[in-house]
Amino acid sequence: MLADFHNHSCLSPCASLEMSPRKLAWTAAAAGVGIMALTDHNSARNTPAFAAACREAGIMPLCGLEITTAEECHVLALFDTPAAALEMGTWVWEALPDYPLDIERFGDQPVVDEHEMIVELIDTLLTSAIHHTFQEIQDETQRRGGLFIPAHINRQAFSVESQLGFLPPGHYDAIEVLAPQACAYQQRYPDIPVITASDAHAPEQIAKHPFQLDFSHPTIPAIREALANLTRL
Ligand SMILES: [Zn+2]
Ligand SMILES: [Zn+2]
Repeated sequence: MLADFHNHSCLSPCASLEMSPRKLAWTAAAAGVGIMALTDHNSARNTPAFAAACREAGIMPLCGLEITTAEECHVLALFDTPAAALEMGTWVWEALPDYPLDIERFGDQPVVDEHEMIVELIDTLLTSAIHHTFQEIQDETQRRGGLFIPAHINRQAFSVESQLGFLPPGHYDAIEVLAPQACAYQQRYPDIPVITASDAHAPEQIAKHPFQLDFSHPTIPAIREALANLTRL
């Protein structure tokens, strides 16, 4: 099954306003994606609409966030229900600096429903680094039963390599690597599942870099096990 675990909706200030959860789900389904995650910056507020749209479009939703750590690394925290993602989102929100959104520069940050109706406009900039460290966010995500995946670790900004210079030792459910270097990174980290993701911010980026994942049930433990199997291929 094609899996794509890193995508943004219109709630992310850097994403296109065309990226409603509905558009994301239906475009991915048309491209053959079977399981997809919504991971807006530091917020899970659009995951209820995303989960509803995915059910309609016939694909499995994962509900998550792309969190900016205190060190300015991007990490993914993924859950199998909107409720779990929203609870994690509350923990993140309490550690997010209250910088006002510059609408001229970034545009709006709308929370929408599954029919693309705006429910609320968030006026705190969502992309700031939160007060918790990489390690604290990893511990909190895993304590809540979520998948913890450092994002685009080989990107030249907002990644563990750009900010820390190395991948800290620890247990990762996977690491996300920019597609051209996925094989090289799997060789470098043979015990950690290496995945690619689209990190879509605009409709034309949807489903561009999924990976293959086979699992029995769409639950976090089954997905964790399927990810671990990637290193045994
Ligand atoms: Zn990122
Ligand atoms: Zn992203």
